[in-house]
Amino acid sequence: MERITVLGATGSIGVSTLDVLARHPERYQVYALTASTSWQQLAEQVRAHRPRFAVLSDATAAQALREALADADCDTEVLAGEQALVDVAAAGEVDTVMAAIVGAAGLLPTFAAVESGKKVLLANKEVLVMAGGLFMAEARRSGAQILPIDSEHNAIFQCLPLQKALAAGCELAELGVRKILLTASGGPFRSTPVAELAGVTPVQACAHPNWDMGQKISVDSATMMNKGLELIEACWLFNCTPDDIEVLIHPQSVIHSMVEYVDGSVLAQLGNPDMRTPIAHALGWPERVASGVPALDMVAAARLDFSAPDYERFPCLLLAEQAASMGLTAPAVLNAANEVAVAAFLQGDLAFTDIAEVNKRVLLAAQLTEPVDLDVVQLADAKARQHARRLIDAGLV
Ligand code: NAD
Ligand code: MG
Repeated sequence: MERITVLGATGSIGVSTLDVLARHPERYQVYALTASTSWQQLAEQVRAHRPRFAVLSDATAAQALREALADADCDTEVLAGEQALVDVAAAGEVDTVMAAIVGAAGLLPTFAAVESGKKVLLANKEVLVMAGGLFMAEARRSGAQILPIDSEHNAIFQCLPLQKALAAGCELAELGVRKILLTASGGPFRSTPVAELAGVTPVQACAHPNWDMGQKISVDSATMMNKGLELIEACWLFNCTPDDIEVLIHPQSVIHSMVEYVDGSVLAQLGNPDMRTPIAHALGWPERVASGVPALDMVAAARLDFSAPDYERFPCLLLAEQAASMGLTAPAVLNAANEVAVAAFLQGDLAFTDIAEVNKRVLLAAQLTEPVDLDVVQLADAKARQHARRLIDAGLV
């Protein structure tokens, strides 16, 4: 039995993960489930999966969960706080950790899983954007296997030769790879007139045409900051630079990304837009396990379109490319500013187009340093958040 901790169990990725796990009770056992405040949903999940631990980062919510489970026929222990998240990620009994907390909040628990040499299924892209060098170095030291859950990165992983998967750290060129083609749907505003973007609402921004996801990543998909974060994520996961990656708009989200080789071959991974496929791939790897995703109907899909991204429409994509080239703490700064700006947009305190403006101002003003450890990264993150909040609160954008 493989024992699994699901960090962010109540989110979109967490729910899909539990769906796949429930299809293979002979293979996987849930060790811990975690969330921030959603104790009612976590209570349902605890009743269904009977983990050893349930963790809420919020202490009041944890108390409510304890009371809700008092009459339940299970001996799940309820814990609270960030240290408990770290503990269930690093526990000796755990084989595999699904890292599916959204944003910088996942930094310490996800790092703890890597540090303790787990098989880490990585959905929480923000932590690689913040501290990719530290994560990859720590994985090499501890022997942790990081398997990408982000559909594009999972597709690239599947299209790369096995030796790349087994010996992370070798150069793409040594494997005959010419470039990575990172596909993007273009989100809900791919063809909205640019002049109308300033007035779009959170509801419109979260209505992704192909994927059903959490609010933060949905807004990131609408600004294409998501693709920018994914570009940085890919550089770390596949040991390459932004020059090795071409972003390609593919509105149908049937191809999840591609790898082009020097002989002219282009390998693609296709599938329905359902995160249970990459989750099942990473859970089972190197074997294959059923995911519950219906077979792709190629006749119904009928056509696949491609175009180049438009930087005027999607300035956040350009900013992420710039942050990737700037290196140092620039990606951590950009990520922090973006988390604050997206939260403000979702609360109705910031116009959609001002997300990019906040991000740009914070990135360009930041004093960048070498991210030698997590403290440096967290300091850069905190300062960038302060700056972004100042700009938004003072109405400076
Ligand atoms: P979500 O908002 O649906 O869920 C987030 C989860 O994290 C919830 O369980 C929540 O309780 C927990 N969480 C939030 N803040 C927390 C905090 N401060 N402390 C502890 N836990 C906290 O998000 P999601 O869409 O499932 O995305 C999760 C991650 O996966 C993100 O990094 C996202 O970029 C990535 N991802 C998601 C998808 C998708 O299809 N949803 C696809 C690719 C990558
Ligand atoms: Mg993705």
